[in-house]
Formats: sequence, C-alpha cells, structure tokens
Amino acid sequence: DQPTLKQGEMDGATVIARALKEQGVEYVFGVVGFPIIEVGMAVQQHGIKYIGCRNEQTACYAAQAMGYLTRRPVVCLVVSGPGLLHAIGGLANATVNCWPVICIGGSSDVDQEGRGAFQEWPQLESARSACKLVSRPTTLSAIPFHIEKAVRTALYGRPGAVYIDIPGNLVLSTEDEAKIPKLPKVSMIPVCIPPENIMKTAIDTIKDAKKPLVIVGKGAGWSERGPTMVQHFLTKSKLPWLASPGGKGIVSDNHERSVASARSLALREADLIILIGARFNWILHFGLPPRFQKDAKVVQIDIQPEEFHQNVQTTVPLMGDIGETLYAMTEHMKNWHYNVHGDWMKQLMENANKNKQVVEKMASDHKTPLNYYAAYHPIRDFISKNDVLIVNEGANTMDIGRTMMPSNLPRRRLDAGTFGTMGVGQGYALAAALYCRDHSPKTKVLCVQGDSAFGFSGMELETIARYKLPVVTVILNNSGIYRGMTPEDMKSVDGDPTLM
Ligand code: ADP
Ligand code: MG
Repeated sequence: DQPTLKQGEMDGATVIARALKEQGVEYVFGVVGFPIIEVGMAVQQHGIKYIGCRNEQTACYAAQAMGYLTRRPVVCLVVSGPGLLHAIGGLANATVNCWPVICIGGSSDVDQEGRGAFQEWPQLESARSACKLVSRPTTLSAIPFHIEKAVRTALYGRPGAVYIDIPGNLVLSTEDEAKIPKLPKVSMIPVCIPPENIMKTAIDTIKDAKKPLVIVGKGAGWSERGPTMVQHFLTKSKLPWLASPGGKGIVSDNHERSVASARSLALREADLIILIGARFNWILHFGLPPRFQKDAKVVQIDIQPEEFHQNVQTTVPLMGDIGETLYAMTEHMKNWHYNVHGDWMKQLMENANKNKQVVEKMASDHKTPLNYYAAYHPIRDFISKNDVLIVNEGANTMDIGRTMMPSNLPRRRLDAGTFGTMGVGQGYALAAALYCRDHSPKTKVLCVQGDSAFGFSGMELETIARYKLPVVTVILNNSGIYRGMTPEDMKSVDGDPTLM
C-alpha cells in the first residue's frame, strides 16, 4: 500500500536517504524488512552503497569498521524488535572500542505503542546503554536534524555509537518537500591542543626520565594527523616505544626503536610512560604493579578528559588531539632527543632480540600438529611481500597473530579490540574488502580466525561472496574454544566433542 506521492511531496524513506546523502554517507550495511525496506531502496536510489548482510550484528560490525577506516559516518540499518536487539552487541562494541557508527532502526507505529504491535520492544531503552546518543524523530521535518546530530555525535570527541529510532509510520508518510530542511554536511572534526605551559611541563618530564617508554594506542590511528605526527615525534625524540594491540601499524613494527618484543620488561621497568591514545584498562594491566612501576610517571594524551587519572595518577594530562598535540610538542622540543646509547635502550634491545629468537625457534619447528607460530610462518612471508589489511580474531590465534603478523601501515589491522568481541571477523573483513575496493585498490584483505571465532558469523562468507569481494580467510582449527580439543581430550569424551 505504497501511497502515490503528490507533486512536491517527499516520503519518510526519501527524507532519510536524502539526509544521509547530504551528510556524505557512502555505505549502509543492514538487514532490511518491515518497516524499513523502503529506506533500503531509497538510499540506493540516492547513490549510497547498500550491503545486505545475513545478520544485524555483522552489519553493525561492518559499519563501525568502515567508519574507523574511512573516518566518515557509516550506517547500520535494521528492522524493529529482534533486528535492533541483534545490533546492540555491535553498538556496544563500537562504543567500547571508540569507533563511530550510526544505527537506524525501524520501530512500531507511534499510535500502536504499548498495544502489542508487531515486533514491539522498548528500543530506545535497549540501545541507550550501548550508545553515546539515542534519538527518535516524530515528524518528517525533524529527521534531517536527528541525522546531522547523529553524525556529529558519532564522530566528534571520543567516537562511538549512535542510535536513531524511526517509527514505522514515518517511513511511508509524506510531507511537503519545502518543509524538509537541508542541513550543511558535518565536515571537519574539531581539534584542540593543550595549553603551552602544560606541553612544556610534559617535555621537561620526558627530558628528566631515565627509562621512558612511549605506548601508542588506536586513538592515534583515529586522529587525522595522528600516525604522521606519532612517527615524527618518535623520529625526533628517539624514544623507545611499543604499540597496544589496536595501535599496531601506526608506526611500523620494524621501526628501529620498537621494543614490542621486550614488552614485559619495558612496562615493568619504565619510570615514565608516555601514553598516546591508549587506555590503562585490562589490555594495559590497568597501569598497575606488578606489570608497571608503582611510582612510574605518566604523560598522557587523550581527547576525553575523564580518561586521565583512570587507575593511575596522570603526572601531566595533555587534553587534545593526538596529531595536533604532538606536532606542537615536537616544535617545543627543538633539537632535544633521548640518549639512545644509554643502558635502558641497550637493556631493551637485548631483551627484544632474545625474545625474538624464542619466537623464531617456535616458528621454524614444523612438527605435526603445527604449533601456532609455525602455522603463521607462511602467512608472515606473504604479508612481508604484499600490502595487506589484516583481520585477526580468536584466542591464541589473535595473541600469537599479533607477534607473527607485523603491521607496517596505520589502520591495516582489525581485531577483537577493547571489548574482546569474538565473531567480529567476517563483518570486519566485509568492510575491509569494500574499503580496499573503493579506496585502496592495491591492498589485499586477509582474515585469520580461530575456528570458534569463525563460527559466530560464518554465514557472512556468503555476503562477501555475493558482493564478489576478494577476501582470503584462513582458519586455525584446533576444534574448539581457546585451547580446543587435543587428541587426548577426544579420547576422554569417547570422541564426542558435544560433551566438552
Ligand atoms: P587501545 O586499544 O589502543 O589501548 P583505546 O581504544 O583503549 O586504544 O584508547 C584510545 C584512546 O584514544 C581513547 O581514550 C580515546 O578517547 C582517545 N582518542 C581517540 N581519538 C583521539 C584523538 N583524535 N586525539 C586524542 N585522543 C584520542
Ligand atoms: Mg579454536
């Protein structure tokens, strides 16, 4: 019962599509159905690429990975009730991971609320705890404002998830085109730098340190000039550094002062941590002893003020955009650099080399069954000769993959992230392949997953195939979760893995 549009009128689906187009949305991932099927059609009529997934969770994972890769708003479009509920894991993942995503969900008609409507559910309440913002337009002319604000909220400050709830009755209702506002595109993400005296204090603190260590996190990959300026800062300051898992590739793992292979020692002994776009959460052992010195000083750059003093006192909080702050700081640093011939550097390098040899020994042990390092050996070979965007998830598969798959470029590696979410791999690979096709055609996509991680969303292989996207998925199969099933385990349960 599609209404026939009168001259000069727009329907809700078109209003949504036009507003998304005006905001520069290039991709919508989703699963369509009642009541947003027309929205899926309208976005395509407006030249937006729509990618139909098998499950809303993957659509949401794909949309946020694309948002992180392109630094643009990307949409996940879902139906009411179960549709939105399936997407919530994805929204939470985006918010915890500091990645932007905008979810648009259809919901039941306004005048049926509370009366047992089809797929009726308190969608705003459900989405709220996973999002920076939830909102619900109730007229067509309000929709562009909601979409513009959603874009700003997802991208500005610390990025995260946003949800817009669209009552089903809005989709096909109509309004005079003249009454639908056209809003300017949200373009530049505003940036700031800390006051000069605080930056100078930070530099003095760095100069005073005997055993400094820079930790580069994924916030540095999000900041527009982050990767360039982190590289510049490390080159000029000559400080030893390592990356968090999400910060891998912002500076090449092959960089001469990377002490990634001496991670435990570096964290344990450093008297100053320069924390750049990373959080002292579980991934960095909360910044606490025994993994860190009790009285280690902390110079931290972050865009979110509440992040300072989290778990550990911040000695010098630098509230600002990473790229711009590091640019200003390197200017103030003048020609100073750290003494690379001192004991600390020597100690780190010796430990790194020793640990590298242990890894190499494992990697060249090709006994059956293959150990993880050996399984990764040919993959590492391939990566060293190609520009590859890597998707990596699983337990051991991801832990060891971090060591065995070096990263050389920013935003070329997607993994289970801060939320430790398993099942993101196929969605990330889908987004990565589209991203490479449209924005980086020389880059190949390689997805390395554990068997259990793959199982979460294995059907999305079909989505990837349907859109003819070149993704290679490698599954490291140990027959189960975490340590999997050994031949001995199989004997003890009479070969029946359902007993485990
Ligand atoms: P990792 O997983 O690498 O530790 P996190 O996601 O935990 O990284 O932390 C990233 C941090 O970077 C967050 O605290 C976030 O607020 C911050 N951040 C994100 N973008 C910027 C930016 N442009 N400038 C400064 N800090 C940023
Ligand atoms: Mg397994």
